[in-house]
Amino acid sequence: MNDSKVTRIGVLTSGGDSPGMNAAVRAVVRTGLFHGLEVYGIMRGYSGMVEDDIFKMESRSVANIIQRGGTVLKTARCKEFFEYEGRKKAYENLKKRGINGLVVIGGDGSFNGALKFSQEFDIPCIGLPGTIDKDIAGTDFTIGFDTAVNTAVEAIDKIRDTADAHDRLFIIEVMGRDAGYIALHSGIATGAEHILIPERKTDIDAVVSSLQEKEKRKKLVNLIVVAEGDEFGGGEEVAKHVKAKLPNVDTRVCILGHIQRGGSPTCLDRLIASRMGYHAVESLMTNRYNVMVGIQNNKMHYTPLENAVKAKQKINEEWMKIVKILAS
Ligand code: ADP
Repeated sequence: MNDSKVTRIGVLTSGGDSPGMNAAVRAVVRTGLFHGLEVYGIMRGYSGMVEDDIFKMESRSVANIIQRGGTVLKTARCKEFFEYEGRKKAYENLKKRGINGLVVIGGDGSFNGALKFSQEFDIPCIGLPGTIDKDIAGTDFTIGFDTAVNTAVEAIDKIRDTADAHDRLFIIEVMGRDAGYIALHSGIATGAEHILIPERKTDIDAVVSSLQEKEKRKKLVNLIVVAEGDEFGGGEEVAKHVKAKLPNVDTRVCILGHIQRGGSPTCLDRLIASRMGYHAVESLMTNRYNVMVGIQNNKMHYTPLENAVKAKQKINEEWMKIVKILAS
């Protein structure tokens, strides 16, 4: 028996896309239907809410999508939603359909929007962390991170083969404007010699002297994994500095780019997306509102939206030490 006032829910994907968003949408739709709710899909994030691009979803609407990257609901960035007028329009479009609960799958920007919206209008919102960057507090996982890292690992392994054939230094740029998790995880997993991330100062002199020292030992194959938002501004910039100091080292840059956002989600991403989507609806059914559903220590963890938007995860110091020791 539930005493929830939520009877019709909307679901949307917003901000940067990430693999596994479809699995989360599927879980929200099917859990909602299981509870006898009406479920509405909202297209292109908050844009669909403002422009009234909303449609009723059935169980079949989410058939055959769990394995697909991208998002069937599409995603977008919506300028109008930053303004009260835009959010009011969005509210009216929900209200006329009787939608009284919202699940937002996106990053911290999307949660900012959801928080404002829920404070201004009487519509409870649940956030699900959908971002490849894993830079949201209150959860050990974000939907899409594992897929992005595995894509990066596969690509870096291939680069290592060609680096090895030519005795080259490769500087590989991975995504992460503000967060270094993709660089850190993929760099450790591929045995990178250096990992440069936004959370740490980039000590180019230390990188150069370690490369010089390795050259003396005839260790000529070296990989440096750089997050796009490192202090120098990514792979090309780091390469310029390294080449200036080591002109004789055969150096190449590879920017992995958007392949990290695409592709079929890994088992882990499908699993966490399914669990989070299920618990998003369960939260609404038990009147637990305006929280982000995360997972910590393999248990569901609920973070008030205002805290999910502010804090970032911390880089584990021990991991940085491991990088140094294992690359020696
Ligand atoms: P992400 O969710 O991936 O971090 P963005 O930061 O681009 O992506 O945010 C996605 C959308 O969320 C924005 O285009 C906007 O519509 C909405 N949004 C973000 N921040 C706010 C805010 N402070 N107020 C209202 N809406 C916001």
